[in-house]
Amino acid sequence: MKRYSVFAIAREAARYHAGWERAWAAPEPKERYDVIIVGAGGHGLATAYYLGKNFGITNVAVIEKGWLGGGNTGRNTTIIRSNYLQDPSAAIYEKARSLYETLSQDLNYNVMFSPRGVMMLAQTQHEVRGYKRTEAANALQGVQTEFIDPQRVKELCPIINIDGPRYPVLGALWQARGGTARHDAVAWGYARACSDMGMHILQNTEVTAVRQVAGTVTGVQTTRGEIGCEKLAIVVAGNSGVLAEMAGFRLPIESTALQALVSEPIKPCMDVVVMANTVHGYMSQSDKGEMVIGGGADSHNNYTQRGSFHHVEETVRALVETFPIISRLKMLRWWGGVVDMTGDRSPILSKTPLGNCFVNCGWGTGGFKAIPGSGWAMAELVAKGEPGPLAAEFGLNRFREGRFIDESVAAGVAH
Ligand SMILES: Cc1cc2nc3c(=O)[nH]c(=O)nc-3n(C[C@H](O)[C@H](O)[C@H](O)COP(=O)(O)OP(=O)(O)OC[C@H]3O[C@@H](n4cnc5c(N)ncnc54)[C@H](O)[C@@H]3O)c2cc1C
Repeated sequence: MKRYSVFAIAREAARYHAGWERAWAAPEPKERYDVIIVGAGGHGLATAYYLGKNFGITNVAVIEKGWLGGGNTGRNTTIIRSNYLQDPSAAIYEKARSLYETLSQDLNYNVMFSPRGVMMLAQTQHEVRGYKRTEAANALQGVQTEFIDPQRVKELCPIINIDGPRYPVLGALWQARGGTARHDAVAWGYARACSDMGMHILQNTEVTAVRQVAGTVTGVQTTRGEIGCEKLAIVVAGNSGVLAEMAGFRLPIESTALQALVSEPIKPCMDVVVMANTVHGYMSQSDKGEMVIGGGADSHNNYTQRGSFHHVEETVRALVETFPIISRLKMLRWWGGVVDMTGDRSPILSKTPLGNCFVNCGWGTGGFKAIPGSGWAMAELVAKGEPGPLAAEFGLNRFREGRFIDESVAAGVAH
């Protein structure tokens, strides 16, 4: 596959862009692969990429029922940060954040990583104490964060009203190297790199059953026929329960729709990401100028990928005291994605009761930021059959053994 470069752009400009190749191939399925990954979201594609890059395993198919990145990966608000409380979480999210720093060069695809800084506002005394605790934990974990005072918040983000009558800003947990990346580009960049290694990305192909013999996986039934495999990785976020049922086991996961919205584009007014957990909303400004606003999850379990009017109203109402300018903004679009929530709000990267079948799910409202680290850890799990250090604490057995990794505060607002 040709490399993208400034010279390639100049050359193609001179010949009317007639020489670009397809970014990834659309092959016919083979009868059998070493590894099948179900789900071409960011986590599935990153797993495939690091299987090839770190372990030389390239006889891989990534099977996707829709289009790649059409699940939560293409529906999220793209916040990247690693300021989690517990050690296993900080390790995997910081691994992901650090991989994001050089992902564009690594993939030869511009994922538009923008380390513009992320702040989590403290608007109650409880949050002040909580974020100071996280700051201390992060210092021990090697994650760079600092608790900043309201004046610094105002300097970094002048449109914030720090003197709100109900929820004045008392400070914030600031991660200067957090930020955003372009979500589609992350999926496309990984897909292109996987295709370049000879892997098959099979779009519009739904897995409808999991085949097994004597307790070990042998393949999958799809809408394009049966495909055999040595190993199977289920990486389907909100559909994890459905796939687990096909494979004959249950997961401690609930699926629900999480919603977000964007405003009409306005001139640049905010160059950081701000999360306000107490009022339950968060905001950043996209390269196009739209204010990207995240709201809450639906209160009931469902598989809809739609937004709803009352969420728009509730989210904007919650944020307007802290961001008075949004009271006069028109909202352009809103949507939803089906997120996979665990009880402790931490992911599952694990072997399963079915032999040679592995699962990666439970990233809930916050898995975009984790994509490179999750793919790295999942590839190791699939290749070796045992979790490496990054995945070791995230096994399914933690629910049976009561070793929860409680991140309900870090994941408090949906992001
Ligand atoms: C509105 C919203 C805002 C969010 N904001 C943020 C944020 O700011 N920061 C952050 O870190 N995270 C955020 N998230 C969470 C993040 O988007 C997800 O955790 C992450 O994208 C999950 O990626 P994935 O690859 O696991 O899943 P997905 O991207 O959902 O991919 C799973 C794929 O599996 C496919 N699939 C399902 N069933 C089958 C089948 N039977 N056969 C074949 N394919 C199948 C689906 O079509 C889908 O494409 C947000 C999520 C939403 C919905």
